[in-house]
Amino acid sequence: MRCLFCGADQPEVLTFRTLLLAEDKTGFCRSCREQLAPIAVQNSCQLCGRDLSILDPKLVHEHICYDCTQWKKSGRNGLYEKNYAAYHYNAFIKDILNQFKFRGDSVLADGFADEMKKIFRRIKKEQRLKNSFSLFRPHDEEYVLVPIPLSMKRLAERGFNQAEVLAETLDMPILNALTRVKHEPKQSKKTRSERLLMRETPFHLENEYVSFILGKKVLLIDDIYTTGATMRLAAHALTKGNPLRVDSLALIHG
Ligand SMILES: [Zn+2]
Ligand SMILES: [Zn+2]
Repeated sequence: MRCLFCGADQPEVLTFRTLLLAEDKTGFCRSCREQLAPIAVQNSCQLCGRDLSILDPKLVHEHICYDCTQWKKSGRNGLYEKNYAAYHYNAFIKDILNQFKFRGDSVLADGFADEMKKIFRRIKKEQRLKNSFSLFRPHDEEYVLVPIPLSMKRLAERGFNQAEVLAETLDMPILNALTRVKHEPKQSKKTRSERLLMRETPFHLENEYVSFILGKKVLLIDDIYTTGATMRLAAHALTKGNPLRVDSLALIHG
């Protein structure tokens, strides 16, 4: 089997260990996998999933990072609760993302399917645990997956939406409930504070999806969580459908 990223041949060694650890098998070779920076659950921010172990301890308070504290204070979270992330952003994953986005290499999503599934199991487990402490247990239902959409223009450039490709790895029904009504300038051209201050949502909840969102837990899916503005703007657009809560899963926190 060839590595999805570098193309190196991966010898398919069947040992007792590889049989036991079927989950360890990904589409990436060992040397590519070793360049990824997975975020350990115990080190992650409880609200945005970032790796707190590489952050200045002064910016962390009770397992919550400074940015999340600011978001809380801003009163702009609305129904949005938390983000989960698998990897910390580094030069290597940046290369993978570029390949994934611009070379139309959606096959790379296969390389992350196991990791996506693993996090999704963690999300469900966490929710079950939370519900077991609650008196009324109304939230036991499954999440509805909503990928963060691209604008029509960018979708035409790329030919696929990477967030949707990642959502597909979870083998759950996907609702393409949101559209991106405005073509925003690329995020990288804005400063961090500009992005944090962005007021108007570019997202729109399509009317025919309103009834599918009502009373449901929504899990937004995207490739990367940067400032958290995109997720909150998308969650804001969903409020028209009265979901129970909105969380998100991003492959990378960067
Ligand atoms: Zn490789
Ligand atoms: Zn945080």
